[in-house]
Amino acid sequence: MAPLPRSTELPSRARCPCCGYPTLTSRAYYEICELCWWEDEPLDDETEASVANHGMTLSQARENFRTHGVMYDPAADPRLSGPDGPRERAIKQALIADFEALATAEPGARQAIAARIDTHERHLREILHGKLDDGPDRRPLTPTKTWLALLVAVLLAISFYTAISHGAPPLANMLVAAVVLLVALAGLAVERIRARRAR
Ligand SMILES: [Zn+2]
Repeated sequence: MAPLPRSTELPSRARCPCCGYPTLTSRAYYEICELCWWEDEPLDDETEASVANHGMTLSQARENFRTHGVMYDPAADPRLSGPDGPRERAIKQALIADFEALATAEPGARQAIAARIDTHERHLREILHGKLDDGPDRRPLTPTKTWLALLVAVLLAISFYTAISHGAPPLANMLVAAVVLLVALAGLAVERIRARRAR
């Protein structure tokens, strides 16, 4: 395990038992570390399985943090927000560098480093909130979906208008409606594939 920062400009902070950095406000209150994601359950020792951490032990989580920068193996990362992306990894590296810089900084430089730490942590929270808000339940209508909905509405209106005013046979109208629905579904499928690739 990397040596812990010797001192900190963040005196009210407690060190995470997994990554060792001062990311918690207090110990043993089930707080989740923003850096490594360990949930601070009170444990007897590092070999005890932690219920709050999917049955993992502290020593397994520490090993993963050393290797992957987070307490989970990326192949078995159970987080709703998914594994860390490149931007989160970069911010976490900057955060770790600043935690370590704080340990050896001259008193005059500490405030600026602490301010950078605040900024890194805020950015991590913003990314997390962005990822969770983008979940399937709260995803806003994308421009493509909005246009498809309008297209469906217009085509259905035309199809019903022709049915009423020109007495087109019902079968023709059902065919038009079916084609419109198929186009809309294909559009949604393309949208979903694009969104998945963008992640
Ligand atoms: Zn941690």
